[in-house]
Amino acid sequence: MDLSRSENIVVIGAGQAGAQAIASLRQFGYEGHITLVGDETALPYQRPPLSKAYMKGELGEDRLYFKPASWYEDQKVETLLSQRVEAIDRSAREVRLEHGGCLPYDALIIATGSRPRALPVEGATLQNVFDLRGLSDVEHIQPRMIPGKKLVIIGAGYIGLEAAAVASQLGLKVTVLEMAERVLERVTSPVISTFYQDLHAEHGVDIRLGARLKSLKGADGKVSHAVMADGEEIEADIVLTGIGIVPNIELAHDAGLACGNGICVDEDARTNDPRVFAAGDCTLRPLAHYARTGRLESVHNAIEQGKLAAAAIVGKPRPTIDCPWFWSDQYDIKLQIAGLSMGHDQIIVRGDPAEKKFAAFYLKAGRLIAADAVNSAPEFIVSKKLIMSGAVVAPDRLGDTSISMKEIAAEAA
Ligand SMILES: Cc1cc2nc3c(=O)[nH]c(=O)nc-3n(C[C@H](O)[C@H](O)[C@H](O)COP(=O)(O)OP(=O)(O)OC[C@H]3O[C@@H](n4cnc5c(N)ncnc54)[C@H](O)[C@@H]3O)c2cc1C
Repeated sequence: MDLSRSENIVVIGAGQAGAQAIASLRQFGYEGHITLVGDETALPYQRPPLSKAYMKGELGEDRLYFKPASWYEDQKVETLLSQRVEAIDRSAREVRLEHGGCLPYDALIIATGSRPRALPVEGATLQNVFDLRGLSDVEHIQPRMIPGKKLVIIGAGYIGLEAAAVASQLGLKVTVLEMAERVLERVTSPVISTFYQDLHAEHGVDIRLGARLKSLKGADGKVSHAVMADGEEIEADIVLTGIGIVPNIELAHDAGLACGNGICVDEDARTNDPRVFAAGDCTLRPLAHYARTGRLESVHNAIEQGKLAAAAIVGKPRPTIDCPWFWSDQYDIKLQIAGLSMGHDQIIVRGDPAEKKFAAFYLKAGRLIAADAVNSAPEFIVSKKLIMSGAVVAPDRLGDTSISMKEIAAEAA
């Protein structure tokens, strides 16, 4: 279907993927009308700093925005903020807005992202219990991050651990409750988990593994304690939950679009309706290099799919699909992750975790499929290339720090 002559393109969701799709549509020469509908009050902004430099007060709000308001005016993009799309009517080819009115579309991009998983325990709605997804969450959390206050974080995923690092550096007393037997269990290997457990312990963060939270207890409507299954009560002035996200697929699902654990899209970010695309956290996408589909929760994925959708609509060649990647900043440690480690059968560690500079490489049948690089940019950069080339790498060479990553890349080529 030729959508390049579309008069109206509607983008639902003013986040990372929506902003990228718009920028790419204009960059690829689309001159028609674009409407961006977002249910937050702000123009599209970056979320990663919300649990890092912005939460710590080291980055001004103005630095979060991808583009200033004038850019949207210059590019003739109509922005409808604080507006929720309530429904998509595919037969009428229009979206219905919560506050009334409909927007017609010739092509539609759904970029609705995801939302924090709700904490399924009694007391989760007490005051001073927060999750962390948007700017407005930080607006509530930040004024309460006062030195000496007790913060309990539920969930030792990346967001929980990043917030723990910020809070402990700001002088709060931080306890992290993690149900699993190690931190970051869902996303990484024991060597990386142990490294982060030790790192947080060095900074005075109390990480409780195998923790069974029973409920949150309050006084005067405000949270006061986390109550554990064994009866222990942990004092809390603030509770932050970080127990994963849920993709916002309801609009797509209700409109009859194919969904699984995400909105199903093809390599061009197209849904099973040729006029409707989806990009970012909300999608279940092909991961051709890994011969499977999956949902990726990352900036890189949102940017890549935003570009893919725009290119497909405008009729440009499909942009290159890159190795999936992610990062996390905790204290002065930068973790860069290349690829997806699921299904690995071998782990090679290069360098010494005690020196806070090392990498874990994940291999499957002799091929590199992922790498976690701690303060090790060359390992990350070379891994991205090796992963996508599918080169066979010699495990003993990868683990030998006397051989540079450049040499390893040359040998594998
Ligand atoms: C605190 C935090 C730290 C992170 N750190 C990193 C990191 O270090 N590295 C990394 O790669 N990724 C990180 N991420 C993840 C990354 O930010 C997301 O993967 C990325 O924002 C996804 O982009 P998106 O456009 O799919 O969703 P979002 O950026 O969430 O945008 C979706 C938008 O759609 C809106 N919306 C939803 N439904 C509707 C509707 N019906 N009508 C109108 N609007 C709607 C939402 O409110 C939201 O504004 C982090 C995320 C968070 C929250």
